[in-house]
Amino acid sequence: MTLTLGTGIGGAIVMDGRVERGQHGMAGEFGHMIMVPHGRRCECGNRGCWEQYASGNVLQREGQALARAGGPLRPNSNGGARGDQRQSAGLSSPKRGSRVTQPPKSSLAEVGRWLGLGLANLAAALDPGCIVIGGGVIAAGDLILDPAREEMARNLPGRGHRPLAPIVAAELGPRAGLIGAADLARRDF
Ligand SMILES: [Zn+2]
Repeated sequence: MTLTLGTGIGGAIVMDGRVERGQHGMAGEFGHMIMVPHGRRCECGNRGCWEQYASGNVLQREGQALARAGGPLRPNSNGGARGDQRQSAGLSSPKRGSRVTQPPKSSLAEVGRWLGLGLANLAAALDPGCIVIGGGVIAAGDLILDPAREEMARNLPGRGHRPLAPIVAAELGPRAGLIGAADLARRDF
């Protein structure tokens, strides 16, 4: 199973080396699983979609909010971001439309925890052997993946009595989608 964390969340289920497309070619739309009823509005028209909580857009939105606030990171009100104000020292002020290259670590951890929660659901449904995470956001590496691993382990049904699928970073970097599409075309057409 693979996910790409960019402006949203892309996904694919790979079984026996082949992409599982579903009955109507729509399999893998993980980013639009509703994680929070009546939550943040999503471009798809629903509210509370996973990608509104665990994607690069979230980091950009938080970075912009912090930049507008003009101050150091403040722990958020739900306690989810176990904020350390010292960690915000490297926060840059993102320009609209630009990539956030230095989001605060507590924001990365928050995205990681949302990522892990969704992965626990997916693992419950699909029992994957491995979860590969790609996309631009994954440049943050274990700052996102470690909280994701912890959150998945904490929420997986049957935890402690079943293997935990490893969560690993995609090896091909930002070009993975391009290379994968070319490989798919080479195999299937
Ligand atoms: Zn959506």
